[in-house]
Amino acid sequence: MTRFADPQRIRSLIEGLDAFTATPGRGTTRLTYSPQFRAASDYLRAQMESAGLSVREDAIGNLVGRLEGRDPGLAPLLIGSHFDSVPNGGKFDGPAGVAAGIETAFLFRDHGLTPERPIEIIAMIEEEGTRFGGGLVASRILTGELDTASLGSLPDDDGITMAQAMAAYGLDPAQAGRAVRQPGSVHAFLELHIEQGPVLEAQGEDVGIVERIVGMAQLKVTFRGQAGHAGTTPMTARCDALVGAVAALSRLPGLAYAMGRDAVLTVGKLEVRPGGANVIPDRVTFTIDIRAPAEEVVRELIGQCRAVIGQAGGNGLTAEVEEQMFVAPTPLSPELHDRLLRNAGQLGLKSRTMVSGAGHDAMILAGFAPTGLVFVPSHKGISHAPEEWTDYGQLARGIDVIFTSACELTLPAGQAPASPRPAS
Ligand SMILES: [Zn+2]
Repeated sequence: MTRFADPQRIRSLIEGLDAFTATPGRGTTRLTYSPQFRAASDYLRAQMESAGLSVREDAIGNLVGRLEGRDPGLAPLLIGSHFDSVPNGGKFDGPAGVAAGIETAFLFRDHGLTPERPIEIIAMIEEEGTRFGGGLVASRILTGELDTASLGSLPDDDGITMAQAMAAYGLDPAQAGRAVRQPGSVHAFLELHIEQGPVLEAQGEDVGIVERIVGMAQLKVTFRGQAGHAGTTPMTARCDALVGAVAALSRLPGLAYAMGRDAVLTVGKLEVRPGGANVIPDRVTFTIDIRAPAEEVVRELIGQCRAVIGQAGGNGLTAEVEEQMFVAPTPLSPELHDRLLRNAGQLGLKSRTMVSGAGHDAMILAGFAPTGLVFVPSHKGISHAPEEWTDYGQLARGIDVIFTSACELTLPAGQAPASPRPAS
């Protein structure tokens, strides 16, 4: 049973926001700085204002609603997520966390609570990287990790740079640096996100409290052989890059199986050159995405992949492995993890500690301020698709965890409301 958050109010916010899609009837498509993005930002601004927040758009288009504290000079508690989407995605990935922030503000208003330190609700741009690539752009700019001078060299598919798109959106790219926050200026960051996987629903659990984000690596593999005529080159005289690549490929998923320890391995991209039906392939490239909670597992799997690929070479075939990305696992704040878990328990919720297999804004902010991340169940584990779904009652239970924790982090001891919403 929900004790604080109002499922109907959350539903109205999320479904209202979902009107702003470039692909109505085919899921949520909301690219950063697009006309739909502007309309969504205006909508969120109105929602934040009706929750009693004073709202500003920062220098890169993040929307920030502030609930002033008794001491405005204290570093704010930041709560939020992103409001851009993948192409033809769902309505919960990102907006669930924005709704968590705004509903928290509504609950402070409903209960007549004034925090000691300010609370800022943030709706962030370009987490998915759908338009300008890379992803996690808002959090990387806020924390100073991404230099705003580079925005002029981030083009979208139409060749429009992020700086140009910002200008068209009504922002001054030369001022983008003003969105950077100073170290120590954020007290803590709380994010709620849909799980995007099947675990919570399958286990009948209400919330997952994330303790870390997985480590990940991306490899690019290239097999090189000799092109030739498909009809005139005898089988014994071939040096077929695809035959070598497939020999390696067929063994790769088994490495992660055998490793266990929650390791996953995916080959998601494969290119065969020159790509003629009657030509022996001379070059095959594919990617390997490796993720695991423990850094040594990721490193061990990289080594095993290299060995398997090396064995598939020879007889004139060369195989090359390039490590394109390596990110160590990111621990979130143990103190916030314990607090969120304890509050879930006090709310009577079934919870578990989780490792996130996907990167989120929380992953970047964790290096900047104490960060906590709450997962709510995704129906059938589906995400990045129009079928993405989280029950609004479940979402409200996750928001209760955020709200009660926000109370502890901003109110004097003993002032947090102990009972459900007061009769209105
Ligand atoms: Zn997301």
